[in-house]
Amino acid sequence: MINQYFHIYRHTKSFLSRQGYFLDHILPHRCIVTGEITQSKTGLSPKAWGELNFISEPMCYICGTPFSYQLSEDDAKSEEQVCLSCTEYPPSFKRARAVLRYDDASKPIVLGFKHGDKTFMAVNFAEMMKQAGYQILEDAELLIPVPLHWTRLLRRRFNQSMLLSKRLSFVTGIQCHSGVLKRIKATPVQGYLDTKARKKNVSRAFRVGPDSANIIKDKKIVLVDDVFTSGSTANECARTLLEAGAKQVDVLCVAKVVRD
Ligand SMILES: [Zn+2]
Repeated sequence: MINQYFHIYRHTKSFLSRQGYFLDHILPHRCIVTGEITQSKTGLSPKAWGELNFISEPMCYICGTPFSYQLSEDDAKSEEQVCLSCTEYPPSFKRARAVLRYDDASKPIVLGFKHGDKTFMAVNFAEMMKQAGYQILEDAELLIPVPLHWTRLLRRRFNQSMLLSKRLSFVTGIQCHSGVLKRIKATPVQGYLDTKARKKNVSRAFRVGPDSANIIKDKKIVLVDDVFTSGSTANECARTLLEAGAKQVDVLCVAKVVRD
């Protein structure tokens, strides 16, 4: 009997993979940036991939902003070089890391994922985030996505940060809790606001429900988001989580705005 089921399973699997192969040829993947036909597993043509700017060392230990200059030999030995902004205004989170610079090359990909329902990109992004965030994922105990207000969730139909968290949880084995942090203020879109206005916009916008406090108590948390712009949202989320009992909050994003 078991053999019979195994036989059916094996043939069904083989049939589906043949169909997948066939479908890939009659409906080939197109790069979401250039529109070129591509066989690449990243979903991007080699041209689009080559134009991406990956963030690498040396960078600020706290906010992850890449330094535009080479560090001296002595400074390079220390892992904890901190930028001027983080020295003057230390954020609530411990460290923030991102895969890519948010620029003309990465924008179509990130926006395609966020607004254009290119949700399949979560698979590639999660793999890239695992590498870019290896330091902060090392001792992380919980992944929490930056939440959307329910009215925006209703319009957009999905929370892009939750998709990233779930996939990141799958590839790292770290638990993900999407309902712990709630956005209680329907804040306007922050696209055109400056840093000060962004800070005010998200002030007291989040809350940890009383039922969720025990989930985060004394936990090292990684907050997951798509884009790190001024850091106001990440900072406010981290402050809320720490106030509710979390031990430490780090931030991991797909892209980061880097001001020269
Ligand atoms: Zn910094």
